[in-house]
Amino acid sequence: MLFKELAGYYDRLSSISSRLEMIDVMAEVFKSASKDEIKPIIYITQGILVPPFEGVEFGMAEKTIEDAIAFSTGISKEAVEKEYRKLGDIGLAAEEIKKKGNIKRLADRPLTVSEFYEKMLEIAKMSGKGSKDAKVKALSYIISESTPEEAKYATKYPMNALRLGLGDATMLEALSVAFCGDRKSKEKLEAAYNLCNDLALVGDTLAKKGIRAIDGFEVSLFKPVRPALAERLPTAEQIMEKMGGRAAAEQKYDGFRCQLHMGARKVKIFSRRLEDTTEMFPDLAEAVLREVKAESVILDGEALAYNEETEEFLPFQQTIQRKRKHGIAEKALEMPLHLFVFDILFLNGKDMMKMPYEERRHFIEKLLKNCEIIKPSTMIMVSKPKELEEFFENSIENGLEGVVVKDPKSSYIAGARKFSWIKMKRSYKGELSDTVDLVVVGYYRGKGMRSEFGFGGLLCAAYNEKKDMFETVSRIGSGFTEEQMVQLRKALEKDKTDNKPVRVDSLIKPDFWVYPKYIVTVKADEITRSPTHTCGKEKLNNGTEAGFALRFPRLVGEEAIRKDKGTEDATTTKEISEMYRNQKRVSIEEA
Ligand code: AMP
Repeated sequence: MLFKELAGYYDRLSSISSRLEMIDVMAEVFKSASKDEIKPIIYITQGILVPPFEGVEFGMAEKTIEDAIAFSTGISKEAVEKEYRKLGDIGLAAEEIKKKGNIKRLADRPLTVSEFYEKMLEIAKMSGKGSKDAKVKALSYIISESTPEEAKYATKYPMNALRLGLGDATMLEALSVAFCGDRKSKEKLEAAYNLCNDLALVGDTLAKKGIRAIDGFEVSLFKPVRPALAERLPTAEQIMEKMGGRAAAEQKYDGFRCQLHMGARKVKIFSRRLEDTTEMFPDLAEAVLREVKAESVILDGEALAYNEETEEFLPFQQTIQRKRKHGIAEKALEMPLHLFVFDILFLNGKDMMKMPYEERRHFIEKLLKNCEIIKPSTMIMVSKPKELEEFFENSIENGLEGVVVKDPKSSYIAGARKFSWIKMKRSYKGELSDTVDLVVVGYYRGKGMRSEFGFGGLLCAAYNEKKDMFETVSRIGSGFTEEQMVQLRKALEKDKTDNKPVRVDSLIKPDFWVYPKYIVTVKADEITRSPTHTCGKEKLNNGTEAGFALRFPRLVGEEAIRKDKGTEDATTTKEISEMYRNQKRVSIEEA
């Protein structure tokens, strides 16, 4: 496939307003490409070069791309910047400049998708002295070989600004339609994706070897598995009922989720978003090599700063200081981490994920018996709500967040919130003091005092997993510091758009729409029914339609934007609806 054709499809995708139509167009892309092109097409469409855990980034700032446009078209940098500011999008600016300039293309034949991808990968891999200039030159060469439409996407891609609005679920469905004839194989594809966290690998395997090869996907060392997640329920009774009367209760640690892979004297540590964070935690990497006697292993756990003298866990606000790019070794000495292991996915070449929890736990305890830094999480088996309640109170007293209760019979369920893990935090009981993570889909201009910041609040949405859409649940106007308002406006301005993004479902029109990309953490007093929001919208008994809204919502956290979560990690519509039901149940019980 020519890159020009792909650019044409992207133009089509940008003007589509329904997700189903998007799936069809993307399926058409896959069908018209050769088998070898599926991989690069998926990476380009996702705006990445390789899966996130491999850590190859473009490393090109806005200015570098502007320079490349100037260099390739012969116009001044100032003129490029002016056009960019006028159009608000680097790709549109490049396209416009190419069109106006009527500059003849240098190449004697058009670029293919694979050639384009290879060239971009080469640019990304340039590093060291003089690499900035080399990147400008190489990108400008691509731009001069391009038509205006190609130039648009060749400049948007390294800025991760393709903004096609295709989520993982949409891509998986498109693959299913293209290679299996309908959307039914999406689940199988998703299961494979949960194991390798690489959509392009799933697409490549499907295109080349068919769906049977997808069924045979297995966990493998140094490829992070998408983490299992916990559902929530408010009371010990409800949890025990759901678990069928017997469960494992573990302390819930508030630190960093770490998926640790070790094999052949090599260690890799992945974050919750499955980025490679090995370099940040040299103490853990060293500890696992020293303490864990296994040829190969994948452990799932939470890393936490721990005060050896007082034998106390440090709160998250302190633990977070270990997430840094500089001064890593000093901080590691000052604040050593412990890893509390709560799961094992792989041991000595063997996939452990399908084994029941209880058996996996047995392996963890045996393996980590004499370890000091890498320890099993504290766990007890419970069979009565009262026992769970006591363990919970005890965990809170020890400075922990709460407990996570696990079904002793369940396998490790990658990438999903399922009731095989249920969390219970102090806050659930009664008021809604648990926070929710919402996706920003719009924002408001400031009025009065706020006008000087150009920021007056956010329109936020929950993620509807079933529909793969973002549904509004709250307008947030308080809780912002002045700094946060400035930070938010700066970030959101770059990603605002005139039209409602395809995957956003909203009855409200904010001053500016924003491409779903940013997550904020929000606290509220209560969840109420509301006709103005689309989150969980349904017909009520009285015949009216209503969704859910947060009452008295406010932004929390020092950083306005959560960097550790992606849009699909946001609180889901289903969770909001469960929180609504639970809060009702609590107030009835209390009454
Ligand atoms: P939450 O982030 O509130 O949805 O809670 C789930 C998170 O709790 C997981 O992603 C882990 O990072 C963390 N966690 C802490 N302790 C445990 C544990 N014992 N079992 C499972 N998850 C835990």
